[in-house]
Amino acid sequence: MTEDSIVIVGAGHAAVQLCACLVDAGQGSRVHLLGQEPELPYQRPPLSKTFLKKAEDPTQLLREASWFENAGVQLNLGQAVQAIDRQAKAVVLDSGARLAYGQLVLATGTRARTLPGWPCNAANVRLLRSAQDARELRLALSACKAVTVLGGGFIGLEVAATCAALGKTVTVLEVGQRLMGRAVSAALSAHVLEQHRAAGITIELEAELGPPVLHEGRLLRLSMPAGAREVELLLLAIGAVPHIELAQAAGLACDDGVQVNDGMRTSDPDILAIGDCAQFPMGARRWRLESIQNALDQARVAAATLLGGTAVYRPTPWFWSEQGAMRLQMVGLLDAGAMQTLRRQGPQPGAFSLFHFQQSRLRCVESVNAPADFMVARKWLEAGFSPDPAQVVDAGISLRSLQPSA
Ligand SMILES: Cc1cc2nc3c(=O)[nH]c(=O)nc-3n(C[C@H](O)[C@H](O)[C@H](O)COP(=O)(O)OP(=O)(O)OC[C@H]3O[C@@H](n4cnc5c(N)ncnc54)[C@H](O)[C@@H]3O)c2cc1C
Repeated sequence: MTEDSIVIVGAGHAAVQLCACLVDAGQGSRVHLLGQEPELPYQRPPLSKTFLKKAEDPTQLLREASWFENAGVQLNLGQAVQAIDRQAKAVVLDSGARLAYGQLVLATGTRARTLPGWPCNAANVRLLRSAQDARELRLALSACKAVTVLGGGFIGLEVAATCAALGKTVTVLEVGQRLMGRAVSAALSAHVLEQHRAAGITIELEAELGPPVLHEGRLLRLSMPAGAREVELLLLAIGAVPHIELAQAAGLACDDGVQVNDGMRTSDPDILAIGDCAQFPMGARRWRLESIQNALDQARVAAATLLGGTAVYRPTPWFWSEQGAMRLQMVGLLDAGAMQTLRRQGPQPGAFSLFHFQQSRLRCVESVNAPADFMVARKWLEAGFSPDPAQVVDAGISLRSLQPSA
């Protein structure tokens, strides 16, 4: 590698998008992509949805091997980076090999959160982050009747809905007062709760869990106020933790993520961070988002920075989740402050959007099976346009007619 080489650590959504941007700019031969998973980079979102339904479904690749080869990108899979030597400007691989970089990008993502003292290697416990986790979960599902999901967040609820569709008896245990409590409004939580219960999923909110116990040395049993509870298969879906250890050990500024500026540079100007592992400034605080939109858009900004440009990451965050018959789409950020929420009925039963205003300004829109509303709302928020609240709720008005003038 020469001193103008770009080494990318992690081979997920953000890293592959960054490769694509660099390849488009004719810089593919400068890129060395290192990933600890042994397989070609793949789409993660299907892993909690369609992938679990069909025993033989392969992963959906982000790019074929031939694409990397033709683009001149050097791909090194099945190799974790163990350390960054900032003085020598090199990374140290599992094998002990060193690879010099001109510029380094950390795109290391997250890992599934676990609970202290919980035996995650118990025979009936699964986590879900990687394709290999999903294969193991899929195999376990094929041999079980009842599934318990610990965690009523997006991934837990997606898996719960998938398992219900597979005919399993499903229980979701959520310690909080409502589902997806950190990410969506109380009104959306309530709707989703009702829909999952109507689909036959048992959901227990404010679940009280004591330290789990192991039965016959290998099966985990939950300890609940009413006594020990058997679980045939337990998915621990209680969130994700950013992979920041490499950055921390190298002395880069980190908090709940590797801190970056709005051009994605870390506290070392030769090192950037992108995707789920990066914590970026927006407004009065720093954010770390776990979404495809965030990973792809940060990669685009990082590419510009690496090539000497001055792009700035100022996102209008958006996210989607598929849970049974519900397609949830959200754009904007729900603020902690008081919001005025208006509901717009969608074209079909069960389709609606929640428009959240703060001081008459549109801040966030949550849609359920109303993709047209979501698309318009996304354009509005990206353009900094705020519609008249009264018009928004009038289902007789086409939202497109309220477009901001160009
Ligand atoms: C089951 C599931 C469903 C999801 N569904 C949705 C959805 O519906 N919508 C949505 O917007 N988002 C969804 N997400 C989130 C989305 O997948 C992430 O936001 C996205 O993958 C982040 O991309 P990334 O490149 O930052 O990290 P990742 O895609 O996680 O890639 C990081 C890679 O870095 C590797 N790595 C870590 N440390 C090292 C190291 N030291 N050396 C080498 N490699 C390393 C990891 O093994 C991993 O392969 C889902 C996630 C999961 C797990």
